[in-house]
Amino acid sequence: MDIKAAQKIVTDLQNLLNQYSYEYYVMDKPSVPDSEYDKLLRELIEYEEQFPELRTPDSPTHRVGGAILDMFEKVEHSSPMLSLANAFNEDDLRDFDRKVRQAVGEDYSYVCELKIDGLAVTLQYENGYFTRGATRGDGTVGEDITENLKTIKTIPLKLKEAVTLEVRGEAFMPKKSFEALNKGKEERGEEPFANPRNAAAGSLRQLDPKLAAKRKLDIFLYAIADLGETGVKSHSEGLDLLDRLGFKTNHERKKCAGIEEVLEYISGWGEKRPNLAYDIDGIVVKVDSLDQQEELGRTAKSPRWSIAYKFPAEEVITTLRDIELNVGRTGVVTPTAILDPVRVAGTTVQRATLHNEDLIREKNIKIGDKVVVKKAGDIIPEVVNVLAEQRTGDEKDFFMPTHCPECDSELVRLEGEVALRCINPKCPAQIREGLIHFVSRNAMNIDGLGEKVISQLFGEHLIKDVADIYKLTEEQLLGLERMGEKSASNLLHAIQASKGNSLERLLFGLGIRHVGSKAAKTLAQELGSMEALSKATAEELTSINEIGGKMADSVVSYFEMEEVQELLKELEAAGVNFEYKGPRPVSPEEFDSIFAGKTIVLTGKLSILTRGEAQEKLEALGAKVSGSVSKKTDLLIAGEDAGSKLAKAESLGIDVWDEEQLIEELNK
Ligand code: NAD
Repeated sequence: MDIKAAQKIVTDLQNLLNQYSYEYYVMDKPSVPDSEYDKLLRELIEYEEQFPELRTPDSPTHRVGGAILDMFEKVEHSSPMLSLANAFNEDDLRDFDRKVRQAVGEDYSYVCELKIDGLAVTLQYENGYFTRGATRGDGTVGEDITENLKTIKTIPLKLKEAVTLEVRGEAFMPKKSFEALNKGKEERGEEPFANPRNAAAGSLRQLDPKLAAKRKLDIFLYAIADLGETGVKSHSEGLDLLDRLGFKTNHERKKCAGIEEVLEYISGWGEKRPNLAYDIDGIVVKVDSLDQQEELGRTAKSPRWSIAYKFPAEEVITTLRDIELNVGRTGVVTPTAILDPVRVAGTTVQRATLHNEDLIREKNIKIGDKVVVKKAGDIIPEVVNVLAEQRTGDEKDFFMPTHCPECDSELVRLEGEVALRCINPKCPAQIREGLIHFVSRNAMNIDGLGEKVISQLFGEHLIKDVADIYKLTEEQLLGLERMGEKSASNLLHAIQASKGNSLERLLFGLGIRHVGSKAAKTLAQELGSMEALSKATAEELTSINEIGGKMADSVVSYFEMEEVQELLKELEAAGVNFEYKGPRPVSPEEFDSIFAGKTIVLTGKLSILTRGEAQEKLEALGAKVSGSVSKKTDLLIAGEDAGSKLAKAESLGIDVWDEEQLIEELNK
């Protein structure tokens, strides 16, 4: 590339990054995820390394933070408040470690700390009294936000010793405060904050301390500005000194002897991070010894003795290429976004469900849009929002079809539903999906009979309903693509073995509306056989705990259908088991336990038992463990940080126990 072409790219990148920084630091309202900012910044660094003459002094690669708001007094920092160099993978961390070793020799250690996702602030104390607090600003000059900082209860107004010093830390909004704040904003029709970081920054950078006080912010201190003057020799001693003076520091920090321990610490926190009460976006690694820190020095933007490892991006940008329609087992037509493949939180994502047309309208999604994607609950990919300002004009509106994409019957919207449905019972897509459901893991669990094989068998008209699965021959299977003798024989064995499944698997597999795997188990347990179930009346069914009217009606009308009776006859003739084979239900009177027959809810963090263990133990004593608190709840077991369930139980006057009481009773 010649310099002219590079010049244009560099200028464009600088302008874009400056705009994003302005939105992020000054407006507290970013328009793109951090991963996008970081990606563009890395690109700019690479261009500037290749063409050093294009590196201007005001480039975002040199600058810390953003502009300062005029409405605040300016505060010049006693020493610069820097940014941190970033590491995105193990190689980057090992590279950093190599450079440290080259500079200071073999004898060094690190301190690892959580990288709190808030905003950096500096606090000045004179003779032990808090006198002034400021934002990082551009690293040299910050904004005086003393009054707002005074509303943070964990900032001491008076220290335990009458010292004069300046300390630095990260002010942040705990996840709970953030959720409550945004809920209130939504109820009032106001625009919610994008994330806790921006909410914290927005709360501290406004003029009314009363408002800041309502926002329930917190702080962790992580540095003393002029540490050398305090007489300590290392960063870790500095943190201990902060503790002694009465500051709140983060106690998840760890001293690490070398890079291997650092990597271990990072991987541990990658997993534990969702359990924290506040957001972290990475781990900060710091050389511990002050002498060695001095030897390593700093660049204009960041110290060379520290690096911030960033966790894999949880929100990324990609292009939505198309919207595909899928007809499910119950006829619901679901639009799915087809995306340019992109890495999100460690895996590649290419599809995301869009649920229904209302959601597409609400999010204003067009085909060809740049979209922000994340994994909801870290598993299911979801389109968060569209970057409408990046549209080129070539994007296309999407409309749901009026007819089924598979069988062309007219789609209907049932009352009270947002989804469009194909109600043709002969719709091939529904039948195929029903077959896939029948063989799936929680249903008949037939190994080797996955989506692909079912689709082939169905496509070649070898099976048209679930009974046909039991009529398959080796010859037919061998005619399928990529099906060898061994696989065919294994598959026939698996089909044969499934005939012996206990009734609940068959019931769930049949796909009776509203009957999920849990209800199927209850029905099988209570009625014992297909015959008893097919003769049960709606009243008999609703008298069973957990079986409601809607489900009972659906079961009764299912067994009234002639086709169903035919199908069952065929299944029975094939030798499929129609009886329940599991343990019989035990009535509460048969247990000698105070938990027998009681409905119990578990909430909060338990420390001795896991939730699963507690549930198992309670169920073994005849209790029913439920997921939500209602008037029917007899007892709530509340662990640490119990939230809304505890509040609800208290308001309903339900007994509440802590984990200790539970264990004491279990031990009796
Ligand atoms: P940084 O976030 O990479 O790291 C420096 C900061 O980490 C410090 O200033 C401090 O505030 C914080 N920190 C938290 N815990 C710490 C600890 N234990 N020890 C030391 N420091 C700790 O750098 P930055 O310059 O503050 O900001 C860059 C970040 O802002 C990036 O994540 C970037 O993606 C984001 N950003 C996003 C946009 C956007 O449009 N989305 C725009 C600009 C910047």
